[in-house]
Amino acid sequence: MRETILNIGFDDTDSPKGMCTTYLAYKIVDLLKDEKVEFLDFPRLVRFNPNIPWKTRGNGAVGIKIKTNNPKIIKQKIFKILKRYSDTKNGANPGLVFYEGEVIPESFSKFSKMALWKLIKRGSAKKLLQKHNIDFYYQGNGQGLIGALGAIGYSFDDHTMELLSYRQKSKFGTKRSLSESSVKEMQEKTFPFTFNSYDNKKNHVMIAPRGPDPVFYGIRGEDPDTLIDASKMIKSNEKPQGYMLFKSNQGTGAHLDNELDVNDLRPYDSGTITGIISRNPVMNLGGHVMFSLKSNNKEITCAIYKPTGITNHGMNLIIGDLIKVGGGIRKASKNYSRVLNVEFLEIIELKRLEKKSNPRCNDCNKQMKSKGKSQGFECIRCGKKEKNKVIIEIPRKLEKKKYLPILSAHRHLTRPAQRQRIQNKKSQFKDSRPWFFVFNN
Ligand SMILES: [Zn+2]
Repeated sequence: MRETILNIGFDDTDSPKGMCTTYLAYKIVDLLKDEKVEFLDFPRLVRFNPNIPWKTRGNGAVGIKIKTNNPKIIKQKIFKILKRYSDTKNGANPGLVFYEGEVIPESFSKFSKMALWKLIKRGSAKKLLQKHNIDFYYQGNGQGLIGALGAIGYSFDDHTMELLSYRQKSKFGTKRSLSESSVKEMQEKTFPFTFNSYDNKKNHVMIAPRGPDPVFYGIRGEDPDTLIDASKMIKSNEKPQGYMLFKSNQGTGAHLDNELDVNDLRPYDSGTITGIISRNPVMNLGGHVMFSLKSNNKEITCAIYKPTGITNHGMNLIIGDLIKVGGGIRKASKNYSRVLNVEFLEIIELKRLEKKSNPRCNDCNKQMKSKGKSQGFECIRCGKKEKNKVIIEIPRKLEKKKYLPILSAHRHLTRPAQRQRIQNKKSQFKDSRPWFFVFNN
């Protein structure tokens, strides 16, 4: 029988009340294992533009690539399971795309890249799918088609992995109990091959979500072996249902790869702007810092929000500093103009800061006193005299470096400090490895 390579993409099956697109992926893989299909790569968990306000749950879609000799049956089964697990009653707008073929069309990759940093019109996904005569399905407003197509089209320049562990059904909605010290220890032992598991500053476990969804915990890192070992170090009384490894763009900062065109900024765009500080920073009552940046003769207001933990650095900026900021464009409202919400701050050049000051007496190491207007200065200890004030440099409190938000303000895509110079391109897929596992409970 003829073998078909089938790319499956789906998105927006979840809602704030439960369910989770990655759990649906786990269920689909479980089903595909029974169908004896051949898996060609890890399932991919692709995060898209985090600055789209109505995609509050992380804007993540899933893609699965398989080889099968019965694509028709497989499609039907996946369709059924997607319908069953999608939380459409609570606002999910699921989308499902099937693309047959080894090579992904370039237009899909381009579309995927756009969805990383722009607001994509719902209709454009549908148009592209129809143009290529591709099988797709959606419910609700069709929002899910963007991620479904994007997950298939995404081409990784850099990737990370996530091991997601799922709870048994009877535990859904109950409190998760994980040994905090085991998470802390796991992080120490696996650094730098895992990231963002434990926040040492706030003493907070970061791998476990709080909500009612099926995820028990998720460990992020660079390679499958480390993650499987890491998960064995997590201690808990709760026995999970199973786990699955995903290849992901989380932690790659890919949404901020492009420099925004300041003359064509659109609401919800993500990217970077390089420019010179044109208005000194001001802290408002809420503790947020606002300043302006001039780039290509255009002035852009930037906001550093208090939870980022880098407002103090923002306050140290002065007019004339050359900086690069990464972030998202907030839509203008009645009370606020269009603003770039800063996700990171990179100092390229610091303006020299000076002030006029009374001269010092080098013999006594003391500052001289003024003798009155235009009368010059005198050391009160030894009587040495100087005519004029001197210009001294005030040390800047900033360094030429990148300032990242604190851990608690990281988005899924935020590139953590330890990954700043890393580009993970190794393909590490071997179907023989336990990248998917269901425990016997
Ligand atoms: Zn003196």
